[in-house]
Amino acid sequence: MKFKQSVFTAAGILALSASGTLADDHLDPPTEVQRLHTMVAEVSAGRIEADIRKLVSFGTRHSLSDTKSETRGIGAARRWIEAEFKRINEGCTAKLEVYTISDTVTGRRVPEPTEIVDVIAVQRGILDPDRVVIMSGDIDSRVSDPLNFTDDSPGANDNASGMAGTMEAARVLCQTKFPGTIVYAGLSGEEQGLYGGRILADHAKEKGWRIMGVLNNDMIGNIEGINGVVDNTTARVFSEGTRDNETAEEARIRRFSGGEVDSPSRNIARLVDRLADDYIPNLDVMMIYRLDRFSRGGHHRPLNEAGWPGVRIMETNENYNRQHQDLRTENGIKYGDVIEGVNFDYARKLTALNVVTLASMAGAPPFPADVKLSGAVQPSTTISWDIRGDEKERANLKGFRIYWRLTTDAQWQWSHFVPADTRTHTLENVVVDNYFFGVASVANDGLESPVVFPGPMGAFDSVKAAE
Ligand SMILES: [Zn+2]
Repeated sequence: MKFKQSVFTAAGILALSASGTLADDHLDPPTEVQRLHTMVAEVSAGRIEADIRKLVSFGTRHSLSDTKSETRGIGAARRWIEAEFKRINEGCTAKLEVYTISDTVTGRRVPEPTEIVDVIAVQRGILDPDRVVIMSGDIDSRVSDPLNFTDDSPGANDNASGMAGTMEAARVLCQTKFPGTIVYAGLSGEEQGLYGGRILADHAKEKGWRIMGVLNNDMIGNIEGINGVVDNTTARVFSEGTRDNETAEEARIRRFSGGEVDSPSRNIARLVDRLADDYIPNLDVMMIYRLDRFSRGGHHRPLNEAGWPGVRIMETNENYNRQHQDLRTENGIKYGDVIEGVNFDYARKLTALNVVTLASMAGAPPFPADVKLSGAVQPSTTISWDIRGDEKERANLKGFRIYWRLTTDAQWQWSHFVPADTRTHTLENVVVDNYFFGVASVANDGLESPVVFPGPMGAFDSVKAAE
């Protein structure tokens, strides 16, 4: 043992550490971070409601709709979002840099060349600013015909809810300076073919961002399912199982060491699940082991395809009568994505879930890198890792927490904390074959990175993404 370890015996008596002195309990990082409870309490359902109502008031936010009017269409909507981020910035402790990025595209659902514009707000980190986590919502909306850009298309839940949640998260989180950078993104062109996410991925590459995670929020306000279920106590997080850009050689390594369910995206999902249990009262996360809903898409995908981890956070129960529908009543059924279909307090809970996840990932030290596992035909398992960055970038590093779980478990079950100078640790008499392992970095204040699974399967700092 390279460090003092406090041990409670079966009798509950504090034992002596290996060095013969009483264990120093204050050396351990806190496992509950009070600051996160405060942030959760600051998220406002009223402000989210006001923003959703404002977004709905633009009539349509279809990506091909009018851009000149100040009151109707996607141009007016995105200018309002940009102005609102700038207004939020006036009250921020950690300043936001607000700007737009765009590209002119044509495609199956974009018959004429059209400028697709994203609005982004960057809250630069103070220790490790190139390390980036992103929360995104979508600006655009649609009705039954994906090319109908003139009819009213309120898109209250899809996806004014995600956009409003993203702005509210900025209001809460910009009161704190974090080691890493947080980007709040309003993306366009989602319904026309995920263009806004691609534009953001290109921008991130240009800027040299190391994206550690994207939280794509798409529909976070509906609690009445098409199947009759009414439920405001659960949420879903979708994540890919293996990386989209895995090479044949990486697949070969995975075949022999596992990692089918431990992509960095999946381990972000596990972090989201754990943080909901710890910090969001009356909300349980259902991890879905899928990139997205069955044969449907969302804006985390273009970023996954660029090599970066990312998940989709959304309601558990969707209502298809209120998605992509012309506003109408048919056989007594009301169709349309109207404001009445949004539960603002539920949107608040899912926004708060984003807030604690962003705070953890931006507040953590640099994530473990180059994680390796060994122990074949031995009684014990050894895990080793490295951590990038200079002294400043890791100024908040308290140590690392090694995690393991049964191979059939969804969530990490056991953990062991080791101090900051540790780069390898052996778990005595834990047989490598029988568990999955990973390691997270832990900050002085207790904030923690997602668990990093060994090998290319689980790596966050993907070299390919930076190319
Ligand atoms: Zn949609």
